[in-house]
Amino acid sequence: MPLVRYRKVVILGYRSVGKTSLAHQFVKGEFLEGYDPTVENTYSKIVTLGKDEFHLHLVDTAGQDEYSILPYSFIIGVHGYVLVYSVTSLHSFQVIESLYQKLHEGHGKTRLPVVLVGNKADLSPDREVQAVEGKKLAESWGATFMESSARETQLTQGIFTKVIQEIARVENSYGQE
Ligand code: GDP
Repeated sequence: MPLVRYRKVVILGYRSVGKTSLAHQFVKGEFLEGYDPTVENTYSKIVTLGKDEFHLHLVDTAGQDEYSILPYSFIIGVHGYVLVYSVTSLHSFQVIESLYQKLHEGHGKTRLPVVLVGNKADLSPDREVQAVEGKKLAESWGATFMESSARETQLTQGIFTKVIQEIARVENSYGQE
């Protein structure tokens, strides 16, 4: 019998970077052009990785900026985070840095399972953030970095598979301390 583990993952980032589009692509396998702004939405999906099954509960948030106060529900009982910026918006990248600091403090400065995502990579001609900058930021947190496009099913699946693996990686690193 496979073990089914529950994982709660919150998607955070500035508005309009593609949080809803990524969640929708992941769960429904399609890209929605001009989707409505999100209030807050949750999605569930069973993900199988090797012998294990994960019940992934995704919280798609309304979007934050550098002044946002993160509610407890984004901290307590959350296993991992997908932090999204758009490669076409330097401001959205700057917001991510301040969001991470707030999460890190909210979790008592422990190591966090995070996947940093530079979305809208299909709009590369309008790029304001280079991949190497995203990579550097993620490395400074000990996190994983990926560029993606919510238009691409495979790339999007990869993000959520990765966050499940990151959660396991951080849990295991605590087990060894
Ligand atoms: P959210 O506010 O962060 O949830 O952003 P949305 O998912 O609502 O996306 C904002 C806009 O960007 C919408 O018009 C989407 O269709 C578009 N969008 C989202 N992701 C991508 C992407 O990867 N590539 C392109 N070209 N457009 C995207």
